[in-house]
Amino acid sequence: MADAYAIPPITSTLKERRAALQKAHGESWRRYPSVIRSHIKTKEQPEPKPGEVQWSRSETIALARHQCTACHGLGLRRGRAGKFGPCNCVLRAIFRACFARYRYIVQYQDRIRGSATSITRHGRDSRYSWGRKNEEYLADFYLTAKRTLTEPEFSIFRLHFLLGADWRACCLRLHTDRGAFFHAVYRIEQKLGRVFRELQPYALYPLDDYFSRS
Ligand SMILES: [Zn+2]
Repeated sequence: MADAYAIPPITSTLKERRAALQKAHGESWRRYPSVIRSHIKTKEQPEPKPGEVQWSRSETIALARHQCTACHGLGLRRGRAGKFGPCNCVLRAIFRACFARYRYIVQYQDRIRGSATSITRHGRDSRYSWGRKNEEYLADFYLTAKRTLTEPEFSIFRLHFLLGADWRACCLRLHTDRGAFFHAVYRIEQKLGRVFRELQPYALYPLDDYFSRS
């Protein structure tokens, strides 16, 4: 079977997308899942507003779940007005990556060293600046969650993610049932995943950019 990911970029015109697809796959492109066909049929994307983060397929495809029934592993979903946005599976992956780093820093806080230096480059001027990147990250992670989540969501976040309580303990403490608890956990992961990526001026994700920034 032809490569399902060989889809023309969504920035090209409708005519160009159809022509490129037919050239690559012949008539078989009509049998693609609806989500892929929707990429082809989409009209040009509206211009992003100033400061708005644009999600691209090259970024989301690596984070998406292959078995995801909403995006079929592409990571992008068409929202209102034909605009593409990240699938929930991508947002959850971003949250989990940020949370994994948070846990790693908390666990090995005493042993991690050397992350305090960063170099600032302004043309020919290069200078070292000193900062505590790991501690800054922990604070940013916590404060962003506190600012973004509602009060009931934050108590679940604190209990389950920060204090490490399992679902039984959380349900007992918060007087909720298992289904409602996991729905809330998914909602929290999606909400925070989006904010960690879209945070202005400095996003927490990608983590490499966050830690290499001075
Ligand atoms: Zn998905």
